[in-house]
Amino acid sequence: MRKRLSQAILVLAFFTLASCTGPLRPDVQPEEFGAQVLATVSARSEGRWRVKYIFDRPHTALFFSRSSGDYRRLTWKPVTRGVSLVRLDGFDAVLMKTPMIAIEFLFTPYTQTVPKDYTPFIPFSDGGLALYTGQFELLPETDRAAIAALHGDIDRWQGEQPMFAVRVLSDQPMVHNGELRKREAVHVSRGDGTYIYIGEASLLQGADLTGVIDPGLPGWLKERVEPELAVIFDANRALWGEGLGLKATVLFAFRGFEGEGMSNKGSAVNSLLALESSGENLRTFHADILIFFRWFFAHEVVHLFQNRHGVSIDARSAAWMTEGAANAMAISVLREIGVTDDEFILDQYGDAVDDCSEYLGDGALINAARRSQFDAFYTCGDLIAQMTAAVLPNDNLFSFWNALLARGAEAEEIAPKLMRSGDVECQQRLPSTAASAWSEQKKSPSR
Ligand SMILES: [Zn+2]
Repeated sequence: MRKRLSQAILVLAFFTLASCTGPLRPDVQPEEFGAQVLATVSARSEGRWRVKYIFDRPHTALFFSRSSGDYRRLTWKPVTRGVSLVRLDGFDAVLMKTPMIAIEFLFTPYTQTVPKDYTPFIPFSDGGLALYTGQFELLPETDRAAIAALHGDIDRWQGEQPMFAVRVLSDQPMVHNGELRKREAVHVSRGDGTYIYIGEASLLQGADLTGVIDPGLPGWLKERVEPELAVIFDANRALWGEGLGLKATVLFAFRGFEGEGMSNKGSAVNSLLALESSGENLRTFHADILIFFRWFFAHEVVHLFQNRHGVSIDARSAAWMTEGAANAMAISVLREIGVTDDEFILDQYGDAVDDCSEYLGDGALINAARRSQFDAFYTCGDLIAQMTAAVLPNDNLFSFWNALLARGAEAEEIAPKLMRSGDVECQQRLPSTAASAWSEQKKSPSR
């Protein structure tokens, strides 16, 4: 029954498209990727791109799940007759005069940042681009009024999110999920986007990493960050005792010297890190800036290893576990590769003890988010991680976390209850205990 229905729809689609955009018979169906919606994206001449949607059933109204920034009205244009793109109270909506199974748009890649969301296309200095697949996600609604009634709030939407495939076609090399792709890259997910890099830049390759470091990044920074990034991954592999399994992708784009100081936008999606940096201060060597990037990458790469088995983490209550451990492990990594010294680390922990004491003076760590004290998860969590490492006689934080991940896999979640040092008493005694834990650990650097 279902098959007959979809065949009937196919014929309808053929006639609809043939009548307005020429012989565009859909050749690849969403079902081939286990999806209900397929968006095929391809670059055309003079910076114009094309996206062709094919649905598994006809629709008359859809909206873009990511509509922040209101940029499509200026950069997108429907080419299928009877299709309009309108802004409806916070959502970019696609409305069709008759039910349709395939629609097509032309667009210019939007490379500005958008508020509270991923940059749709991250530009690289040499013309390369990283495309965020989530920008193409369309969700079905019944009609125009139903979309308007959402008032731009995705949480009001009651529909079932379709499995969504984005298929990117390009003559240039692409990087998707840490692998080099030729001609085609396909990302399939339900509400989960990623970046696909398209361009000719030489790649930074490691056992657990494929990186694209902007060729235009100021020399003083590129010549340090690029090799260090590879070493940070290698050190993690050694300290954790195994690699990532699936290679990570790191995209580091330089967006010019405009703007005072330095500005960064970082994104982490599954096994991908994307960083966009700009600003006047990047022109010349600054020790502080170098330290910032080292910390950023060391901390984020630890997260990739924390997440490598896909064990979900109870993010709301466990932020102090993951963020704190990522800070503490980042220190181990930076010490391991010889780019930080004990004096600097002691300074950091001196500050952490002071800051954490202040946060805990305001209330329990577990409620820090309610007090908007997100930094408490980093500082106090870091100290708890160091205390944990200090009381493990023949162990270290990495093997402790490996055990925690194994336990989390059984429980299907990592939560503070899996970690004894997360109890209330421990949190209350934290500052003085943490200080002694750190000084004890200092005496035995082998930990
Ligand atoms: Zn983090």
